[in-house]
Amino acid sequence: MKKVYLDYSATTPMKKEVIDEMLPYLTEHFGNPSSIHSFGRESRKAVDNARDQIAKTLGAKSDEIFFTAGGTESDNWAIKGVAYAMKGKGNHIITTKIEHHAVLHTCEELAKEGFEITYLNVDQYGLINLEELKSAIKENTILITVMFANNEIGTIQPIKEIGQIAKEKGIIFHTDAVQAYGNVHINVDQLGLNLVSISSHKIYGPKGIGALYIRRGTKILPFIHGGAQEKKRRAGTENVASIVGFGKAAELAHESLDGHINRLLALRTKLMDNLLSKIPYSQVNGHPTKRLPGNVNISFEFIEGESLLLSLDMVGIAGSSGSACTSGSLDPSHVLMAIGLSHEIAHGSLRLTIGDFTTDEEIEYVLEKLPPIVDRLRQMSPLYEKVKGGK
Ligand SMILES: *Cc1c(COP(=O)(O)O)cnc(C)c1O
Repeated sequence: MKKVYLDYSATTPMKKEVIDEMLPYLTEHFGNPSSIHSFGRESRKAVDNARDQIAKTLGAKSDEIFFTAGGTESDNWAIKGVAYAMKGKGNHIITTKIEHHAVLHTCEELAKEGFEITYLNVDQYGLINLEELKSAIKENTILITVMFANNEIGTIQPIKEIGQIAKEKGIIFHTDAVQAYGNVHINVDQLGLNLVSISSHKIYGPKGIGALYIRRGTKILPFIHGGAQEKKRRAGTENVASIVGFGKAAELAHESLDGHINRLLALRTKLMDNLLSKIPYSQVNGHPTKRLPGNVNISFEFIEGESLLLSLDMVGIAGSSGSACTSGSLDPSHVLMAIGLSHEIAHGSLRLTIGDFTTDEEIEYVLEKLPPIVDRLRQMSPLYEKVKGGK
């Protein structure tokens, strides 16, 4: 059976160049970077090189990049690390209603400890309102954490403007850039960022490795206590091979960023426009232009996203849906609720995310298979029968 992977926002396959770069560090170069002998020095050099590669992609300095076990850990560290370091100054944190659970659940934990959290609303496109942000800022605000781009609907926030506001008020600004990294140009100085979370497996690198950019002078506590690794801020023997792979993936993504964006945009436009015109009662979720180049999120009325995913899987197409059924819950996604969708529309949503290995032929295949599946599922819906009858 044909297999078409359109779930690049969930994870990406590794590029061959990345694996080739990693292999020596899984075999002959096994030294502990903290050791002073030649084996150790070899590994140390590789970790330093990866740090340089990643710093370059963000316009940062190498000593501002700290390796973590992934995007989730980076988000936890950024938020808890600032909250605990700044407790003396205040206990108020501003975030949004559409953050990834790595941010939302971290904030919920802090709320239990007495921190006060403001969750900013978003409009129908998933954008925050800068005036609402400004009026949410108080004397005791210590952190603003707003995601760069949303993982479900792809909406890209006005990060530069938020950075400006944070800077004027002297508030630390963190962004979860896990989805944006490798898909959008990011420069930490131009955008006024203090803390940035990134993850390797979303940019064709290995899983379980990520980084937190920490601007020099940012008040943040160390996260994992132990040895002196990562300048005593994140202890534990470095995951050398994965760090090397992440560095290579970051370098590749940065070198080819414009080409990557243009290629994905062309495929996305073709997929989205054709689905909308071929399938009645469908609508795009997220912003028409301020969105990740590879993100398609569409709601089809009168059907369940879960049934759609299963039917797509049977013809080899891998996507994801807007409901949280994977976690055993029937609640629709908090993101789709926040942009004001009804439960019915949210439940009928489908996310297809395009990446570097997606081909035009694969898009054609989806355009051939998806419309009849939607039609078949709708035939089973009593609501659809009623609407059709009324036409
Ligand atoms: C995937 C993702 C994360 C989590 O990153 P991991 O490396 O999988 O822990 C956090 N935030 C966003 C927006 C993501 O898409």
